[in-house]
Amino acid sequence: MISLRGITRSFVAGDQTTTVLADVDLDIFPGEMVAIVGASGSGKSTLMNVIGCLDRPTSGSFRFAGQDVGAMDENARARLRRAHFGFIFQRYQLLPDLDATGNVEIPAVYAGAARSERRHRARDLLARLGLAERSDHRPSELSGGQQQRVSVARALMNGGEVILADEPTGALDSKSGADLMALLRDLNRQGHTIILVTHDPAIAASADRVVEIRDGRIVADRRNAETPAKARLDRPAEPRGGPFALIDRLREALSMALKAMGAHRLRTFLTMLGIIIGIASVVAVVALGTGSQQKVLADISAIGTSTIDIRPGSGFGDRRANAIETLVPADATALAGQPWAVSVSPEAATNVTVVRGNISTSAQVRGVGAGYFNVGAFTVTAGSTFGQDAVDSRAQVAVLAADTAQTLFPDGSDPVGRTVLAGGVPLKIIGVVRSAGASFGPSTLRIYTPYSTVGARFTGKERLDSISVRIADEYKMSTAEGLITDFMLARHGKRDFFLTNSDTIRGTIQSTTQTLTLLVAAIAVISLVVGGIGVMNIMLVSVTERTREIGVRMAVGARRSDIVAQFLIEAILVCLIGGILGVGLAMIAAEVATAFFPRLPFTFSPVVAALAFLASSGIGVVFGYLPARSASRLDPVVALARE
Ligand code: ADP
Ligand code: MG
Repeated sequence: MISLRGITRSFVAGDQTTTVLADVDLDIFPGEMVAIVGASGSGKSTLMNVIGCLDRPTSGSFRFAGQDVGAMDENARARLRRAHFGFIFQRYQLLPDLDATGNVEIPAVYAGAARSERRHRARDLLARLGLAERSDHRPSELSGGQQQRVSVARALMNGGEVILADEPTGALDSKSGADLMALLRDLNRQGHTIILVTHDPAIAASADRVVEIRDGRIVADRRNAETPAKARLDRPAEPRGGPFALIDRLREALSMALKAMGAHRLRTFLTMLGIIIGIASVVAVVALGTGSQQKVLADISAIGTSTIDIRPGSGFGDRRANAIETLVPADATALAGQPWAVSVSPEAATNVTVVRGNISTSAQVRGVGAGYFNVGAFTVTAGSTFGQDAVDSRAQVAVLAADTAQTLFPDGSDPVGRTVLAGGVPLKIIGVVRSAGASFGPSTLRIYTPYSTVGARFTGKERLDSISVRIADEYKMSTAEGLITDFMLARHGKRDFFLTNSDTIRGTIQSTTQTLTLLVAAIAVISLVVGGIGVMNIMLVSVTERTREIGVRMAVGARRSDIVAQFLIEAILVCLIGGILGVGLAMIAAEVATAFFPRLPFTFSPVVAALAFLASSGIGVVFGYLPARSASRLDPVVALARE
């Protein structure tokens, strides 16, 4: 069954080469019980590892059941370990996070056995080895002898055609050791081929055949007894393959990842924290950006869409605009006579101190036309607004914005009919209005009065800040802009004005908020990347910490892809849970923020939440891949030797 020819294994350390196995020829036949004996350091374990496909020889040929093992790739060797070999180690090598049944099951998981089937078989094997009552105990709750019996059950899980035991009694007391040897003898009688490494001659004496090794060479090979004819080995049915087995393996990797996370809760949480904060900030910033934009756009829509504003200067932010005094009420009157102008609303504003009784506050006196309150979305809540006669007569009347009325009349008394002193000018209050739009930006107190009154009583100048022209429906905005430009150029003789309409304002606001959101989101993405690097860092630590676990899994037949899946799933889970908590945190933060600043408009969209989940699992994949790969590239012998 096993045929070694000219097997050599040497280790290179620096420029020194130590040859541990030199030119070993060995044949082992089905049903044999072979003891490999020799002094410590003679190369017994190295030979065993080569036979068990945990290590590759430096040269020589190794055939198993006629197949050339040297020509096999990693997956084929993993299959050989899984399907034909069962390992028993001196130090048991059970996984501490799994109970006895869980440990025994592992080889069948990688073989693709159905869950209920393998549970059943694992419990059955444990019962046969006298551990029925101990099947849900963890290794730390078992004695050495019991742990070693669990590892025997694990070796038998997939059939255990060849059982490789490296000093299996080395860590046991003499009674447990004797029991274990009796068990191995019994298994041999049932047809299992057993290869046993020991330095104890008494134990070797119980084998049919003893191979003695000294300094890496076989020096003796004698038979104690003729190998009796063996019963046919009962092997479990070859497990099904296909997609179900794959799903099962993935589910197993998932449950392992969950167990590992549960075993290191604090560390897992701290790792997650980077992702939580990153996702929370991205989601919150995007929600705030979207919310602000929607609110601003809604405010603009409330003002109306077919309005063009004429202002002095070359554009917003032109510092000379205040010195330009050519935009005057006469322009407004002339514009009103044009067929494309439905209504014209001039404005002139000035800032003053308003006094009412013992209340003194700064406010904006906003000079507007009689039609102003019809254009904007205003609701008259008390009294009335002024008409054209008030504009013509430069009447000293005032309409208060609702919040201004509240500030000036905190006792809630009716302001209509009372008088306030605005910048020393007495104004009679005739009404209170509430506006639907214009709730963004800092809220200044506003007092509306005819624009003619502002020029006559406050500034002493005819100058207007703007003229809003509502365009007749049949004119396109671009056409109307051309008409207004020509008209104003003809009146002023030069271009000392500029036009805006709600579309251009909308565009400007949209692009500004978008840029801002992008900018802050970019910063948040950087924090996400930093979080991802944290995940990678911890996963690398976790791989190093669990090197021996990886070695055990490989020894019982895990493929490289199984190891990659386990660590990758763990990284993705950490990130995904972090992402969910992050979205939750963002929503809680938004609730808290709106409790203190009710005007902050957060708009959460399911798209953003979905993107956040995608992003966080993407981070898991990207930053988990490297650690997962480095885990899977470990050599089984090297991994097992690591403490
Ligand atoms: P045994 O099991 O017979 O006690 P081993 O097979 O474990 O002996 O080791 C045989 C020799 O090979 C020892 O001298 C040991 O130091 C050396 N050896 C084993 N593994 C390595 C390795 N990975 N690198 C270098 N030397 C090794
Ligand atoms: Mg050894």
